[in-house]
Amino acid sequence: MNNRNGKPFNTAKKPYPGKNTSAGRPVHAAGSGEDVKSGDRIIVTIKRIGINGEGVGYYKKKAVFVDGALPGEVVKAHVLKTETSYMTAKLIEIEKRSPDRQKPPCSLFEECGGCQLQHMTYPAQLRAKEELVREAFQRYARITELPLRPIIGMENPWGYRNKAQLQAGWQREQFVTGLYASGSRRLVDISGCPIQHPALNEVTNKVKAILTELNIMPYQERTRKGTVRTIVTRVGKQSGQVQLTLITATPWLPSQSKLIERIRKQLPMVATIAHNVNDTDTPLVFGDETRILWGDERLDEQLGELRFSLSPRAFFQLNPEQTVKLYDAVREAAALSGKELVVDAYCGTGTIGLWLAPQAREVRGIELIPEAVEDARRNARLSGANNAEFIVGHAEKLLPEWVNRGVRPDVIVVDPPRTGCDRALLGAIAAARPARLVYVSCNPSTLAKDCQVLLQSGFRLEWIQPVDMFPQTSHVECCTLLVREDN
Ligand code: SAH
Repeated sequence: MNNRNGKPFNTAKKPYPGKNTSAGRPVHAAGSGEDVKSGDRIIVTIKRIGINGEGVGYYKKKAVFVDGALPGEVVKAHVLKTETSYMTAKLIEIEKRSPDRQKPPCSLFEECGGCQLQHMTYPAQLRAKEELVREAFQRYARITELPLRPIIGMENPWGYRNKAQLQAGWQREQFVTGLYASGSRRLVDISGCPIQHPALNEVTNKVKAILTELNIMPYQERTRKGTVRTIVTRVGKQSGQVQLTLITATPWLPSQSKLIERIRKQLPMVATIAHNVNDTDTPLVFGDETRILWGDERLDEQLGELRFSLSPRAFFQLNPEQTVKLYDAVREAAALSGKELVVDAYCGTGTIGLWLAPQAREVRGIELIPEAVEDARRNARLSGANNAEFIVGHAEKLLPEWVNRGVRPDVIVVDPPRTGCDRALLGAIAAARPARLVYVSCNPSTLAKDCQVLLQSGFRLEWIQPVDMFPQTSHVECCTLLVREDN
């Protein structure tokens, strides 16, 4: 257990596991000049929060990662591992406590691993996320004077997630649903996750009870017996309606009509009951086949003026309230007048492109996954955007081809996965010379690295707007505006 809620570990009674117990080893104070080995105890002053939510301090100029420690705290820690450039250590005792420390509101915080920052007050989380962005640009782009705007947080940083995907299991003679503890196949029972929309908790819990009554058992990998693998729920923000999908290991769902009847009676907010079959051993959650057992085929959802119609497997942003704020920052950055050609690279289901389409001459989206492109086209039709086109392909292949053919986008938006943009794409962006480049990123490190390349190819960094899409976790999303130097 990491000691995130600040209770000191009882070191006298409980030696730490592993060969090197700390008993008898000296406690090093910072800069004592001795070489530190695993098993040693050190005193560290925590300077900042790292990308995984851990506290980061320095010991003899070496970075020390201490899970559960907060900036400003002085902690006693037990060295777990030393590498050439860093070490990891386990929190033993907090000698000086941060005023930003709080008791994690969720009792499963330490076990679950889904959230990393519940031991920090929300204003402190927001400051830490700004620091994460600053630190990334210092480290990877050598920029110290960053045009960083204050992060946009949530008024209520709880109950924001619109989708829950929970594994089913059998524990202590009970049907449980939860997440696997990080790095293991041990299921942590989560019956009331506070970052999920309350309707999702209610539906999951009732469905579990109904399944139990009907003797429909969770599938167990070990014995290959049972039925239900995963319970997926998604709530529409506007409508409050819930789309429920039961994923089974078996091709059939026993007592189907009774199940439907009871769910309809007890959970009036459920608008769809779907059944997906996954009889494979892959780590993928969904199988290929989804059937609607009862109700609407798709869940209607809205983001600002845009309308979406989501099938059970369709991708949708997990925090709609903050997504609107992020996309508004993108719209401000794009500063469209109605004459522009906009390229939306890594467009997913087309939401950013469609957000911009009313102010643009033409929008072209590029996305790798064909199903997402189909959804993007459907979303364009639903929102009446007839100036938006979506194309399946690799952004790093298609954009260079277009540029070679003389296509000159006025604005390029990129929203790549955590690994950042492909080098070939950065090269094509430099060659395309758009007046504005809007970079949406969920990873400050790759954002900073890519910005360094872009700054060398004629762009200037105008501003960075961080948005807190996932309160209580260490994730931070940024919308960055780069403009051409010669503009
Ligand atoms: N902009 C979208 C989602 C971005 S997520 C939104 O706001 O909803 C990143 C997307 O990039 C994913 O849909 C992924 O499938 C896609 N992708 C990953 N590599 C890609 C590549 N090389 N070329 C084009 N799309 C890619």
